[in-house]
Formats: sequence, structure tokens, C-alpha cells
Amino acid sequence: MIKLVLLLLLGVLGVGISLSQPTVYISGSKDSLGILAQVSQHLKHLDVDENVFIHIGFYNKMPENMKAVTYVQKTFPNNGYPNDQLIEVRIDAHLNKKRQKLALAHEMIHVKQYVKGELEVVNRHHIIWKGTQYSYLHNKDRLLAPWEQEAYRHDRELVNIFDEGYPIQSPTLASQNNP
Ligand SMILES: [Zn+2]
Repeated sequence: MIKLVLLLLLGVLGVGISLSQPTVYISGSKDSLGILAQVSQHLKHLDVDENVFIHIGFYNKMPENMKAVTYVQKTFPNNGYPNDQLIEVRIDAHLNKKRQKLALAHEMIHVKQYVKGELEVVNRHHIIWKGTQYSYLHNKDRLLAPWEQEAYRHDRELVNIFDEGYPIQSPTLASQNNP
């Protein structure tokens, strides 16, 4: 039921949900609406309009002390998730608002990479980025990976666009209003 309510609210916020297909479900945040507004705009900006299910959870306990992480979870067939997969975004609930905002933007870039098939996890040790297989990098080296480079290059830009109230109306909508 919460999912339904959030979807309805998305429409009310006018952040262009009618143009995008992803279903976003948020848990563990006291500001679900604020998170939803950010996520909707980021996804729109990143051209993510695929029919995917994205869960964004804020957790007090994170795996391996990470601040934020995104991964794709394969689900059982025919359980209602599009393509039988669920994109799971986990964010440390202890981050302050500013850092949480940046983490959210950063992870949305990884969501885009997964959804567009640019990034694909092969197994625990291997990952494919734009057709090339890489060994999974750990700790500090992880930041050197090309998919991380891309995310770090653009995460703050996404936050700035959101904070500056970048025009929400899309060209498509505008042209519909002016035939
Ligand atoms: Zn990252």
C-alpha cells in the first residue's frame, strides 16, 4: 500500500513520473517525499525510464561499513518484479543530510549504469563495464574503476541541478502544451 501512496504522491509533486516507468520504493527515511523528489529528478536527468523496480533503503547497519551501495538482486520468476530483478540501493542512515544527498545522487548514477546494461556483475570477483570484464576492485582501488569515476564525476552536478531547481518540465511536456 505504501508503494501505491508514494506513486500517487509522485504524480502530485509533478516531477515527471508520467514520462518515466521506474517504480521507486523508499524505506527507512523520515523524509521519503524529499528523497523521492531527488530520485525522480536524478532518474529523469539520467534518462532512466525503463520499467524497473528500485528499492532505496536507509539502514543503521551497512555491509562492510560502506556509506552507500547499489546492486541488482535477481528475484524468483513471476513474482511481480519487472525482468525478475530488483535494484537495491542501500544508504547509511547516519549520514547527515548533505552527504546523504550526495550519496543518493551517486548511487542513482550506478542505477543508470545497471539499467542501461553498462555495468553487469558476473560473479563475486568479476564485473563487466561497457563490454570489458574487470576484476572486482576492493577498498581504495575501487574508486579507480571506470564506473566509479563516472559516478564521482557527475554526482555533485546532479545535486546542484536539484538544488538550483533545474526546470522540471521536459521538452516533451512543453511541446504538448504548445502544439
Ligand atoms: Zn560508487
